Amino acid sequence: MTKTLQVNHLRKAFGGVMAVDDISFEVAEGEMLALIGPNGAGKSTCFNMVGGQFPPSGGNILLKGEQGEAVSIAGIGARRIWRLGVGRTFQITATFTSMTVRQNVQMALLARRNMIWKFWARANDLLKDEAQTLLETVGLRDQAERAAGILAYGDLKRLELAIALAGQPKLLLMDEPTAGMASGERTALMALVRGLVSRTGISVLFTEHDMDVVFDVSDRILVLDRGRLIAAGTGGGDQGE
Ligand code: ADP
Ligand code: MG
Repeated sequence: MTKTLQVNHLRKAFGGVMAVDDISFEVAEGEMLALIGPNGAGKSTCFNMVGGQFPPSGGNILLKGEQGEAVSIAGIGARRIWRLGVGRTFQITATFTSMTVRQNVQMALLARRNMIWKFWARANDLLKDEAQTLLETVGLRDQAERAAGILAYGDLKRLELAIALAGQPKLLLMDEPTAGMASGERTALMALVRGLVSRTGISVLFTEHDMDVVFDVSDRILVLDRGRLIAAGTGGGDQGE
């Protein structure tokens, strides 16, 4: 398998509604692919099937495995999919507000290593450098020792990205990662993700309302409407780097 993700004839029915109706696409290594379309088009449903929140009604989803083999991930559940290297950010930010920014990232690093809770006391020193590096990557170095609960909204979104990256995903799913952010912050966050994709070769599947941002950062754009793919195009990709 050459691509990071391959989706074939994917479908999802909710009662009589075909939320996703026979969709096929691929995401290459180091590619930033935008899925756009009006509200109700089926974007989140697609993300939720790839991330394992919902099982598909039909079709298959293949993820490139460690040896380049195709691993079928359709319907195997979010936890297993995460273990296979699919990370995601959520529209509602999921952080522990009483812990510091750095501790939130350390916790995500621990989870990746399958360490258990009773080690938490020692873990506060373990992985500190690694957490700090991730915080630098997302531009939160100076906020590391603050409580996550007092971060500004845009910074919380950056923290959420650091937490997703702590899982070392090969594919990152971002469903409206900039929802609720001011325009300048939105551009900055997505430019940061673009830089990460170009530098590390991680693959990103995302959706975003601001078309200027979409065209600036994405390599390719797919347009979804009423559950079907109706158009495809190219974005500016990393030309701006
Ligand atoms: P988008 O993210 O593009 O706005 P969604 O994937 O959220 O679109 O929704 C696609 C369609 O599926 C809509 O008609 C929506 O009402 C329906 N839908 C989404 N999630 C559910 C659900 N959990 N149960 C029933 N219908 C749903
Ligand atoms: Mg949605």
